[in-house]
Amino acid sequence: MRERTGGPGEFVVVATPIGNLGDLSPRARSVLESANVVYCEDTRRTRVLFSACGLSARGRLRSLREHNEAAESVEVVERVANGEVVALVSDAGTPGISDPGRRVVAAVAEAGLRVTTTPGPSAVVAALSVSGLDTDRFVMEGFVPRRSGDRRARYAQWSLEPRTIVFYESPQRLVATLGELAALWPDRRVSVVRELTKLHEEVVRGDLAQVATHWAEGAVRGEIVVVLEGAAPVPTGAPVIRAELERRLGAGESVRDAANAVAEEFNVAHRVAYDVALAIRSERGV
Ligand code: SAM
Repeated sequence: MRERTGGPGEFVVVATPIGNLGDLSPRARSVLESANVVYCEDTRRTRVLFSACGLSARGRLRSLREHNEAAESVEVVERVANGEVVALVSDAGTPGISDPGRRVVAAVAEAGLRVTTTPGPSAVVAALSVSGLDTDRFVMEGFVPRRSGDRRARYAQWSLEPRTIVFYESPQRLVATLGELAALWPDRRVSVVRELTKLHEEVVRGDLAQVATHWAEGAVRGEIVVVLEGAAPVPTGAPVIRAELERRLGAGESVRDAANAVAEEFNVAHRVAYDVALAIRSERGV
């Protein structure tokens, strides 16, 4: 067992800047200065952050990644139980949010020990806050799957998802992904949030048809979060509408034709009929 440090131990989840170093809070700085150990994704990157912020690592950095998170959790619990202050950072933003950390937090909490946070930057919330889209209800989708079948299945879920949809996209894939989404829902509003808090910060807002043509293929750089408007609410009477769409699609009509006919017949927005038709087609794997 390690020697106790005297005070009650604690595990602190510390948010760090997603670009602008000025966003490191005074409280985060103080925890990073005084913690017995600082767990981080990549010790080299955290060393750069420390030195840019005038903090001294003093041999306190330990690596915590997906593959060693379970094993390291045991050591973290032991340290905190022993009275140490253990901090956790990720490469940028808030640890545990699409980054390692969730398992250690659970392990420390399950051991009945104290877990606290110095909250701060997170790309998801920052992007949502400047998107101009509905922030009352939103869903975080991580990175869009790479395989086209998986992507199609994801899009099918989004066709009936009423909450604002937030996802990460790589600069290499952004134009292709926006093109695919624009082909499905040209009218849905979207905000592409790029390089927040950095020199080339940019938010491009509009409908998918417009935004998909904003960049030339391969011309986008930097870190990106996409915020997509949710689907229009499905009206009451949806089962009847769905049944009619199923009948028409089953008879071989295209999604567009079936949606046009049903929108007119039931007096519902074309976009709603189209989204339901798209979801049905996707569920059937065609
Ligand atoms: N835990 C982090 C957080 O809370 O911000 C998110 C980690 S996730 C693996 C990294 C992704 O966040 C990047 O690929 C990019 O999509 C997004 N991101 C990070 N920094 C960003 C920034 N300054 N502007 C826009 N998106 C950013």
